[in-house]
Amino acid sequence: MSSSPAARPLDPIFSPRSIAVIGASRHRDSIGFALLHNLVVNEFNGTIFPVNPKAEVIHSLKTYPQIADIPDPIDLAIVMVPRDAVLGVVEECIEHGVKGLIVITAGFAEVDSAGAALEAQLAEKVRCAGVRMIGPNCMGVINTDESVRMEATFSPTPAERGTIGFVSQSGALGVAILNAAADLGIGLTQFVSMGNKTDVSGNDLLEHWEDDDATRVICMYLESFGNPRHFTTIAKRVGRKKPILVVKSGRTEEGARAATSHTGAIAGTDVTVSTFLRQCGVLRANTIEELFDTARALDRCPLPAGDRVGILTNAGGPAIMATDACVNLGLRIAELAQETRQELASCLPAEASVANPVDMIASAMPADYERSLACLLADPGVDMILAINVTPLLSHPTDVLDAIREGAREGPDKPVLAVMMATEEFYDEVLGRRDQPPVYRFPESAARALSQLNRYASWRRRPIDVPTPEFAVDDAQVSAILDPAPDGYLSAPQAVQVLELYGVPVAAWRQVSDRRGLRSAAEQLGYPVVIKAQVPTLVHKSDVGAVKVDISDPDDLDRAVDEIEASLRAADYKPEGYLIQEMVSGGVETIYGISNYPQFGPLLMFGLGGRYVEVLRDVRFGVTPLGPAEAETMVKGIRGYQLLEGVRGDPAADIECLIQVLLRIAQLAERHPRIQELDINPFLAAPDTAGSKALDVRIRVGDPVEDHRLWNR
Ligand code: ADP
Ligand code: MG
Repeated sequence: MSSSPAARPLDPIFSPRSIAVIGASRHRDSIGFALLHNLVVNEFNGTIFPVNPKAEVIHSLKTYPQIADIPDPIDLAIVMVPRDAVLGVVEECIEHGVKGLIVITAGFAEVDSAGAALEAQLAEKVRCAGVRMIGPNCMGVINTDESVRMEATFSPTPAERGTIGFVSQSGALGVAILNAAADLGIGLTQFVSMGNKTDVSGNDLLEHWEDDDATRVICMYLESFGNPRHFTTIAKRVGRKKPILVVKSGRTEEGARAATSHTGAIAGTDVTVSTFLRQCGVLRANTIEELFDTARALDRCPLPAGDRVGILTNAGGPAIMATDACVNLGLRIAELAQETRQELASCLPAEASVANPVDMIASAMPADYERSLACLLADPGVDMILAINVTPLLSHPTDVLDAIREGAREGPDKPVLAVMMATEEFYDEVLGRRDQPPVYRFPESAARALSQLNRYASWRRRPIDVPTPEFAVDDAQVSAILDPAPDGYLSAPQAVQVLELYGVPVAAWRQVSDRRGLRSAAEQLGYPVVIKAQVPTLVHKSDVGAVKVDISDPDDLDRAVDEIEASLRAADYKPEGYLIQEMVSGGVETIYGISNYPQFGPLLMFGLGGRYVEVLRDVRFGVTPLGPAEAETMVKGIRGYQLLEGVRGDPAADIECLIQVLLRIAQLAERHPRIQELDINPFLAAPDTAGSKALDVRIRVGDPVEDHRLWNR
């Protein structure tokens, strides 16, 4: 095995001394040939034993009829036999004492139920034997470590040595990824096509790369999360040491689920994925191109201390585009210090602009880039730099890039990204070079990479968010309401009780089953009151006139009930009772929500509430477990946060109360998975805790759907 300090569970797969290639083939157009060929021509450092009962020699290597005939101990077996032979072969491998398996063969759970049954047996076999397995249905594994040099894939493109660990859930895309990496001059430490993830999952790979010093950035192409809860824990820990970048594709079945809550209607599965990744500190890219653009920056640049960008250019247009892109991505354009401007002015022509973006104009020579860049880097108000170059008439872009590299070395250590609007020949020449700032073709892609750097840096700076503090609540009583309730909506009084038991303030209320009790209930609460008809099937009560607010006396009350009954009759609804509430005024209407996703658990939502939530869509999401820092980010992160801080002389809302309510809701969601959806809309955000109250709540319960196939991994 390789020289890694401590043996790790996946070492036999990544750093074997000997490999048996079972199903190796002499047919040049088969993967059984291609994989063996790749191992040989890329000079695997250990011994290779092809296994094939019908051949004596393949690729000049002595070939064995079966693994049992190999005289040497085998660390890794690569299996490429037909599906129905896989189980038997794996059994022989285990008997022969192999420590790792890569099963390339397809036709398992991804195909049919017979395949799924075989896959389950395969899983059982390797687990019992304590052998780790990649696949089945995968493209293989690469380790570029000089002491290993293992190209155990059938990809035509070999990988260059570098600093990126890449795992792909798709085999076919794996080939494209290796091609793209080669084109961009991106080097990898290891590459894994993990196929069906029957044994080794993305989580295992994160743990494998966690302490692998050679791997500086982890990139993942995912279609599903095996065990999202486990991923959260691991990703949060690994992310503190090195960045994790994910391209997540594929919609899940539950995305199609009809959503009746505000939270469900606004969110959708993809939001859950983004929220989940953001909270774990994982960067999400939309495309492989974006992933590599960001990975190059993360690999070669230090992390920025802040979000202020300095732009250096020899042309106005691209700098304007860069400025727009940066601002749209949430970065700030740095304000340059007086000294910086003076120094720039002293060495640039009079026509140059020495405010940010610094436009050195078309006559700028490589030396101008070097000097101006160093000068910008020295400005304490600049956190990172985009150096843009449109191919000049009087010098060669390669010289400009060299000057940018030198300038970047002279200044303090800050990220410098180069945008070179140059020819393909230029790119062919420079892309593979590692000792220079990452180069981009367009300002937008460089700006996006900078924004990802900033996002990761600010996540790293944040203190570790301790999980939801435990509120002392009577969970047994909550369960007594939730557990026996049939699937569907809780009654209004039940829903209100759940909130009260969880310490969420609710406007005082009384339930009355028919008209006769209304007056005394209103008296007890004290006028003015609000009356709401209870109709279990009704989703938005006020839409059909079932809510009357600001009722000031008994006559008013009678009139209100008459009106409610008339409008409900017109809409063909029959009230099953009434809820009378104290009338609460002042404050800003906000919304809290829970929507439970089988794969991820509960998604939490906070935002501006009232009747127009779906129109405003001013909300932030979070997933459990939710810590106070994340809860604060959610509350303070809405666009309309100024409304909560108090505008135009309005008093500020009690923000701490809003955060506490969110944390209580998070605990409720976490502890009571029967809650499928919850909407508190509105929750009145008042200046003081006493005035901050839930005015309306709906809770839908149902048995949580657990997809065991996904959760067990
Ligand atoms: P629904 O959302 O089913 O239409 P709500 O109970 O949320 O019904 O009531 C609709 C609107 O009436 C709320 O958004 C809020 O503006 C107002 N409202 C409801 N209850 C009260 C109350 N107790 N005090 C003051 N205003 C209220
Ligand atoms: Mg409402």
